[in-house]
Parts: sequence; C-alpha cells; structure tokens
Amino acid sequence: MKLERILPFAKQLLTKAVKPGDIAVDATLGNGHDTQFLAELVGETGKVYGFDVQENAIAASRDRLSQQAMLDRVTLFHTGHENIKQKIPAADYGRIKGAIFNLGYLPGSDKTVVTKPVTTIAAVKQLLDIMEPEGIIILVIYHGHSEGALERDALLEYCQKLDQKSAHVLMYQFINQQNNPPFIVAIEKR
Ligand code: SAH
Repeated sequence: MKLERILPFAKQLLTKAVKPGDIAVDATLGNGHDTQFLAELVGETGKVYGFDVQENAIAASRDRLSQQAMLDRVTLFHTGHENIKQKIPAADYGRIKGAIFNLGYLPGSDKTVVTKPVTTIAAVKQLLDIMEPEGIIILVIYHGHSEGALERDALLEYCQKLDQKSAHVLMYQFINQQNNPPFIVAIEKR
C-alpha cells in the first residue's frame, strides 16, 4: 500500500516538528513506544516529558528507555496529562515542538482505565497555550470502544471550533475500513 498508514503518518509529522535539542511530550505513556521515538528525535540535548496515570505504564516506559540508554533525556510523571502546565517547568515552555496522545486504553492492561474527553481537552488546551508556533499535537483517536466513541465526538467538536488563526487542524482517516480503526487529528499551533 502506498498510502501512509495511521501510525507511520503520526511519526512522519512528529519527525517534521521535533528536532535535536527540542522538547516533546508523550501525554499517554502506555508501554513507552512513543516516548522512545520522541527521545530519539530530541537527541542527547533535548528532553521528553511523559505522563501516565498507571504505575505499570511508568515502569514499562522507564525499563524501555533504560534499555536504550536514553533515560537521562526523559522525565516521567505518574500523573494525568491535565497537569502538563503544573509539571513542566515554565523555562521549557518555549522549546516544546511536539506532543502525542495515544488515546483509549492500554491493550493487555486494565481496560477500565481510559482517557477521558474532559482531561484530554484540558491537556490539549494547555499544550496550545505553552508550545512554540509550528509545534504539532497528534491525537491518535481509538473509537472502537463505547467511551472512545464519546471521546472522539467531544474531541472533534472541540478541534473543529479552534480558531483557524491560532491553529491548523487536520484529520487523517481511512474511511472505508471495518471495526473503527484509529485515526489522527493533528493540530499545528500558528
Ligand atoms: N489505544 C492505544 C493505547 C492507548 S494507551 C493502542 O491500542 O495502542 C493509553 C494510556 O493513557 C494508558 O496507559 C492510560 O493509563 C493512560 N491514561 C489514561 N488517562 C490518562 C490521563 N488523564 N493522563 C495521562 N495518561 C492517561
């Protein structure tokens, strides 16, 4: 297939936005795959801030980064992404160039712990407030479970109303696939 699949497309956008020395945010650590990817992009002189409400996500991410010898460029917070502004030092705000949210629940983990529209939107608002112009926020929206469908609707309503003078908002989705596969909303701050 020539069309870029969903997750490679997300990585392509982040690669454009995040350069060595920059700061990036993984708003939902999960098992730490995205944190590792962002840690590679920011390089030795950059930094990744990661958030998750589950201790096992923190532990899995710490292990992964430690195995890759990149733990020193990552700070992991065992708290919700709605606390982004409170946790990230203000001195770093102007260097934030990219952020990713992998929404829904962590496969193989506690399916009752899912991201929620109110806190997801609160985190996006905070990021838009503090990040650099041309910084990109990626939302990977999993809408195959019932709470995911509600989160999708709330996020689309919020994102469609963002002032086009303040942000470019893109949706990238295969529209003829079965079983509600994930899709992307990308927000670039202007
Ligand atoms: N659905 C994706 C994985 C999503 S993992 C896939 O299939 O690949 C989502 C992660 O978000 C989980 O580890 C969960 O603990 C975390 N999470 C839930 N609410 C959160 C919040 N408010 N802040 C930060 N992380 C949160």
